[in-house]
Amino acid sequence: MAEMQYRKLGPTDLTVSVLGYGASPLGNEFREIDAHEGERTVHMAVDLGVNFFDTSPYYGRTLSEERLGRFMGHRRKRIVLATKCGRYGLDRFDFSAERVRASIDESLRRLRTDYVDLFQMHDVEFVDREQVLHEALPVARELQRAGKCRYVGITGLPLGILRDIAERAPVDSILSYARYNLMADDLDSDLRPSCQELGIGLINASPLHLGILTERGAPSWHLASADVRRAGERVAGLCRRRGFNVSQVALKHCYDYPHTASVLVGMSQCRHLERNLQAFRLEIPPGLLEEIRETVGDAHNQLWPSGLPENQDRP
Ligand code: NAD
Repeated sequence: MAEMQYRKLGPTDLTVSVLGYGASPLGNEFREIDAHEGERTVHMAVDLGVNFFDTSPYYGRTLSEERLGRFMGHRRKRIVLATKCGRYGLDRFDFSAERVRASIDESLRRLRTDYVDLFQMHDVEFVDREQVLHEALPVARELQRAGKCRYVGITGLPLGILRDIAERAPVDSILSYARYNLMADDLDSDLRPSCQELGIGLINASPLHLGILTERGAPSWHLASADVRRAGERVAGLCRRRGFNVSQVALKHCYDYPHTASVLVGMSQCRHLERNLQAFRLEIPPGLLEEIRETVGDAHNQLWPSGLPENQDRP
C-alpha cells in the first residue's frame, strides 16, 4: 500500500493528509450507501493515515455528521475534523449570527466532540456576501475564541466571490470544488495566487468532478451540461484504452498539484479508498495529460451556475 503524504494547511498548525475524506456520501448524497461499509471505510481511512475529514449539516440533512460522529469513536483524536454552517437544504441558507451560533452546537452534538478543527461557511455564493462578511464570519471568530472551532474557512463554486471575501475578511482556508481536476484548472489562475499572497490554506474538493471522472459516470442530479458529461466519458474511455482507471489518473493529477493542502474525495467504500491511496504510486505516462486535455476540448473549465446571479464568475 502506498504511503500517505501530508501538507500544512496554509498558516494554520494543522497538518492534513493529501488524500482527504469527503463525508458527503455518508449522507447518501450520491446514492443510498451501505452504512456498515461506510463505517469500515472511516476506520480504514484513519488506519491508513487519512487524517482530514470534511462534513456538513447539509450532507444528508445531518445524516453525514451523525454517522461520522458515530463511526469516528476513539479515532476522533487522530482526525482533523472540518464541518460547515449556513447551508441546510437545496434552497435553505441561513448565515445569521443566531443560526451560526446554534449550528456549531448542533454539529458538535452530532459529531460527538467538543470542538471542530475547521468551521466553514458553506456555499457562500447563495447569499448576500455582506452577511457572510459582517455577520457569519465575525461570529465564527467568536466561536473560535470560545474554543468551539480552531480555524475558520469558506467554501463555494464560483471563484470570484471566494477571492473577494478572502480579500475583505481574514479567513484561514478556502475549500474550492471542481475547479482543479482533469476537467478544469482555473483554481490555479483565479484563486491560488490570492491564497498565496494572503496566506490562506487551499483545499481541493471533488477531484472526480462529483462522480463524472469515474467508470460509473455522473449521478443523475449532476448539474454539468451534457457536453461536460460526454467529455468525462471520453476521458474515461481514453484512460481505459491506455490501461488506466480514470479515477486514479484524476486523483494522481490532483495529488501532484502542490498548492492545495488536501484533495477531498467522497468515499463510502473500502475498495475506493484502497484505489485512491494506491493512486499515489501511479506514474502517469508522458503525454497522457496532454491527450486528456485535448479530449476534454471545449468542456474544459465549463462549470455550471451556482448561487445568486450577482455572485457568478464573470466570463
Ligand atoms: P468527488 O469528485 O470526490 O466524487 C465522489 C464520487 O466518486 C462518489 O460517488 C464516490 O463513491 C465515487 N468514488 C470515489 N472514489 C472512487 C474510485 N476510486 N472509483 C470510482 N468511484 C469513486 O465528489 P464529492 O464527494 O462531491 O467531493 C468530495 C468531498 O469534498 C465531499 O464529500 C465534501 O466533503 C467536499 N465538498 C465540499 C463542497 C462544498 O463545501 N461546497 C462541495 C463539493 C465537495
